[in-house]
Parts: sequence; C-alpha cells; structure tokens
Amino acid sequence: MATDPVVAQGDSPEAHRYNQIRRWLGIADFGIGFLFLVVLLVTRWSDWLRDLAYRWGFQSYTVSLFVYLLLLLGISKILGIGLDYYGFRVERRFKLSNQRFGSWAWDELKGFLVGLVLGGIVVELLYFTIRQWPQHWWLLAWALFMGLFILLAQLAPVVLFPIFYKFEPLENEDLRRRLVVLSEHAGTRVRGVYRWKLSEKSKKANAALTGLGNTRRIILADTLLDNYTPEEIEAVLAHELGHHVHKHILKSIFVQAGITLFGFWAANWTLHYAVDQHMFEELSDFANLPLLALVSVVLSFVLMPAMNAYSRFNERQADRYAFETTTSVEPFISSMNKLAEQNLAERAPSKWVEWFFHSHPSISRRLAAAEEWGRTQNVHPKI
Ligand SMILES: [Zn+2]
Repeated sequence: MATDPVVAQGDSPEAHRYNQIRRWLGIADFGIGFLFLVVLLVTRWSDWLRDLAYRWGFQSYTVSLFVYLLLLLGISKILGIGLDYYGFRVERRFKLSNQRFGSWAWDELKGFLVGLVLGGIVVELLYFTIRQWPQHWWLLAWALFMGLFILLAQLAPVVLFPIFYKFEPLENEDLRRRLVVLSEHAGTRVRGVYRWKLSEKSKKANAALTGLGNTRRIILADTLLDNYTPEEIEAVLAHELGHHVHKHILKSIFVQAGITLFGFWAANWTLHYAVDQHMFEELSDFANLPLLALVSVVLSFVLMPAMNAYSRFNERQADRYAFETTTSVEPFISSMNKLAEQNLAERAPSKWVEWFFHSHPSISRRLAAAEEWGRTQNVHPKI
C-alpha cells in the first residue's frame, strides 16, 4: 500500500466519547461495589444481614449462607441497576445495539440467576472447607476452586453461552475449507467453528476461541460472517487459531492458578487477622464474606495492569501467527479497520488507558505491526 491510512486516521469524536463513557461506567461500577463491601463491614450491617439470613434460613448454616449470598447479590444488583440500564442506553444511543428493553431485562435476570448459582456453589464450598479444615482450608479451597474453574471453562461454550446467545455449526463450505488448510498447517485440530448469533443483540462484530478439550471451538459472530470477505474472515480465523497453537487458554489457567493460590493465602491471613481483632468470633462466621470479596476485588484491581499486559502479549503472538500463516497481511489490515469502525473502537487510546484497561493492543499498534510484517516480507520474500 502506498498510503498509510492507519496513522492518518485518528479517532472520531464519537468513538472517543463512547469509549470515555464506557470507561467511566466501569470505574463507577467498580467504585460502587467496593464501597458497598466496605460499608457492610464498617457499619456491621453484614452481621445484621447474617442474623436475618439465619432467621429466614431455618437456622441451618448451609441454607442461611445461601440466603445471605442472595441478600448480598440482591442489594448489590439494586445498587448497580441504574448504571446497568445506563450502559444499555449508551449502546443504543451510539447505534451499537438493537436490543429491546424486554430482551435486555431478561438477560439481566438470567445473568443474576447464573451469578447466584455459581456464587452459591463457590461460597458453600468455601465455608465447607473453612468449617472442616480451619487450619489448611485455603489450600483445599484453592484446589476445589481451580477444579471448578477448569470445569467451567470446558462447559462454558455448551452450557453458559447458550443461555444468552444462539450458536450453530458454520455451514459455509469455503470458510470450512480455509480453516482445514490453516489447521493442517498448524498441525492441530479445532473441534468446530460456530456461527454466533450476535446480531439479535448487538451490531458489533466479534470472534473468540473458547472451551477446553472436546468443547474447544472457534466462535464467529454473524455480524462478522455476513459483512466481511472470505479473506478477512480467514485472517480472523488465523488469529484465533494462533491462540490455540500457542496454548493461550491453558497458559492462562496456570497463571490464574498462581494468582488464586496467592489470593487464598491472603484471604486466610486477612480472616485470621479479623478474628484476632474481634471483628468476627470465628473463621466460619459468614458475615466475613464481604471481607473475602474485598481481598479478591483489591487483588484483581492491583493485578489488572499486569494481567492486561499478559493478555496483550498473547494477542500480539496470535496476530503474528495470523501474519505467518496467511498469504498476505492486507485482509488482516482491512478486517481490523472494519472492526474498529463497526465496534466504535478507539484506534489510538492514550498510553495509560491502554496500559491499565486494554486486554488487546490498540488497533493502531496492531495495524502498524501488520504493515511492518508486510514490509519485511516484501524485502525478504519467502522462497
Ligand atoms: Zn485474540
């Protein structure tokens, strides 16, 4: 290409505004959640909620713990619903979504119930280990948690995602053939490629590699499949295959395991400290759940830049894989440009925004890398 449309093309005021609002929504959501946990502990409302849970839970520990979680999640949903609704309106205002209010409200309800079920399993297991093994609960809880995490990663594409979206096997023969060629080149096999009916709810395009073992699959949004050329879709497929070849999901699970182990150790230390300070009578008093949540929230916040940097590293690796395995970088470049426009992405966010918030390198950097690759290939053509 003679011209360089990437660098010349800045962000539209609209894209800038949209991403700014989204960022502030995220920060406000985090702030409300954080303050809610702190207030519960400082005012001792958590104790009051625990006593209420015992009254409603027939004085049974297991039932009361679940009632307590229901109260906690219910209140935090009520506190956050205004922001959630605003987020829904923003997507519509920027014409990125065609979802109706009823469908959105239904998704919210389903999301709440899924959170309640998963949260219920986690807290019941957690306090079961605390009660049975007060000394080494955190090691056992960590092992159980990781087991659950891996199971969920495997089940997500077949159990969780279909709660919110419809999927069907990709029937486009041309694309399937391209994938087979790419897969053979990679010496690997992805179990399937699925058409993800995103268009019912959003105008944005997306693609992902999901699942583990026999549920490992590439999902491609219909908003992408219907509007991109076969070559552009091939470039996206090659990127997703890059994640597969570099075993990014497996590596992320290992990273997660290390962080979670530290998290459980820190949680144990904090709980013991709180008991020593007479905040709670015993370790198994589930009024201390907000304190556990706080440890996890603070840890995720502190580690966010590092986790995002790790993710961006993986994304660059997947991009490089796409450059290597496709005949030209042109379709990659045009697909990135289309994606940026369609999703109203910031092509060149400020450095600190990218450093802190972004799990993917900015579009401008990804395009620059592709162009750089294209240039070196022209200078030293493959033989
Ligand atoms: Zn990726």
